[in-house]
Amino acid sequence: MQIIYDVVVAGGGPAGCAAAISAARQGARVCLVEQTAMLGGNGTSGLVTQIFGPKKHFGGIGVEVIDSLRARGGVGPTVKPDVYWWVPYQNEALKLLWDDMVSESGTELYLCTKLIDVEKAGAQIRSMTVAGPEGCFKIGGKVFIDTTGDGVLSCFAGEEYLLGDENGATQAPSMEAYYANVDFDKFSEFIQRELSKAGSYVGIFHNYIAKAVRNGVLRDEDLHHPGAYRIGDNLALMNVGHVYGADCTTAGGLTRATLAARKLAHEYLAFYRRYIPGFEQAVLVSTASWLGIRESRRIVCRVMITYDDKKCYRKFDDAVMRFAGGSRTDLHASSPKREDYQRYFTLFTTDAVPPDPEDYCTLPYRCLVARKAENLLVAGRCLSADRETQAALRVMGYCMMMGQVAGSAAAAAVRENTVVAEINVPTLQAWLRDDGIVNI
Ligand SMILES: Cc1cc2nc3c(=O)[nH]c(=O)nc-3n(C[C@H](O)[C@H](O)[C@H](O)COP(=O)(O)OP(=O)(O)OC[C@H]3O[C@@H](n4cnc5c(N)ncnc54)[C@H](O)[C@@H]3O)c2cc1C
Repeated sequence: MQIIYDVVVAGGGPAGCAAAISAARQGARVCLVEQTAMLGGNGTSGLVTQIFGPKKHFGGIGVEVIDSLRARGGVGPTVKPDVYWWVPYQNEALKLLWDDMVSESGTELYLCTKLIDVEKAGAQIRSMTVAGPEGCFKIGGKVFIDTTGDGVLSCFAGEEYLLGDENGATQAPSMEAYYANVDFDKFSEFIQRELSKAGSYVGIFHNYIAKAVRNGVLRDEDLHHPGAYRIGDNLALMNVGHVYGADCTTAGGLTRATLAARKLAHEYLAFYRRYIPGFEQAVLVSTASWLGIRESRRIVCRVMITYDDKKCYRKFDDAVMRFAGGSRTDLHASSPKREDYQRYFTLFTTDAVPPDPEDYCTLPYRCLVARKAENLLVAGRCLSADRETQAALRVMGYCMMMGQVAGSAAAAAVRENTVVAEINVPTLQAWLRDDGIVNI
């Protein structure tokens, strides 16, 4: 069976959903292929139930998602109405919202369908082979968008990619978990009390973690402890523990890392119950259905956006969206070594220059355009960037913006009957601005 669409989107996370919706709204015949049974990617399957968006220049489908979550009563108890940069939400609310928005856009959706190969003719991708419940079949298309997070489609299509630092080490993954029965008043008092002594939120936990290791409650001394986020009245989203040295691009590596991460969620429950006020009665309600991967393949597109671009607020002629400049970035350590943690801490806090609210960087359209396949665009976590810039742009707010750009660009290529590198960029920029994505 071969079905042919204008635009084929692989991966239904924040970037892929936004890509499919924007392409379909521009009139293209679109399909979205997702390997799990739900849309939302790491924001639903990964239990990362809080959207980090940019403080400025956030717009388009990402903002629509937050407004719709609010209208449906799906955001957390502590969210203020005019805040878009940090929005905790109910996981089920976002699952349903993506179902609705993707369906209403006219996108044809294939859940439980995994991309397993790609067929090319010369420089064009002709189809993807997918494995669904009925077996394998092909989905053909004019333009393809890789929003798999791990760059799977680009990798199958023979695009070059980078993985990790000079030794191939990536930011360590973590498995998110929900702990219920948390007394947040007590927890907040504890944090306020300890903050002046420890100097930072992460620092508060260092002594307790060291003590827990000595007492056999935790196995490893992981200094980087993002901790608990309040997402319901008594419900905490826990970002605790990293799996250092994981290779998430092989089945064996991903399996080992997943088992280790699940164990950590139980270890940290014991840790919190014993040492952290407010968590005495906490219960582990659920771990995420997968390991949260912060960094894997970074696809090499026509332009790779760099940390220097970010630090010097570089503007490109083919700008398709804006993002925050300055040196602050969230590059999690790839090893438990103290110097690796210190590097993270420096980039995120002490030496980091926060973004100038009056200025901005731009992402060039060429950053989404594949080098080899003429009908391939790349958006989301696997974007064409160096590690420091990927670490800043991998949050869901930016992923939705990148996805929307890719979807609109794909629709433009179909409409103009041209390869993705040759679409009329000023027209794309104008479409995006009309749809809430400020660019030039
Ligand atoms: C532990 C952790 C905590 C985080 N915390 C936050 C936070 O608090 N706030 C925030 O905004 N961001 C956070 N992030 C970052 C954010 O969640 C991700 O970077 C973001 O979801 C990436 O979006 P994406 O659409 O590019 O990829 P993903 O969300 O990974 O979505 C990719 C989709 O592609 C699908 N897919 C992959 N391969 C295939 C295939 N072969 N066939 C079919 N489908 C496929 C996947 O199933 C998935 O649904 C966190 C990340 C991690 C790991």
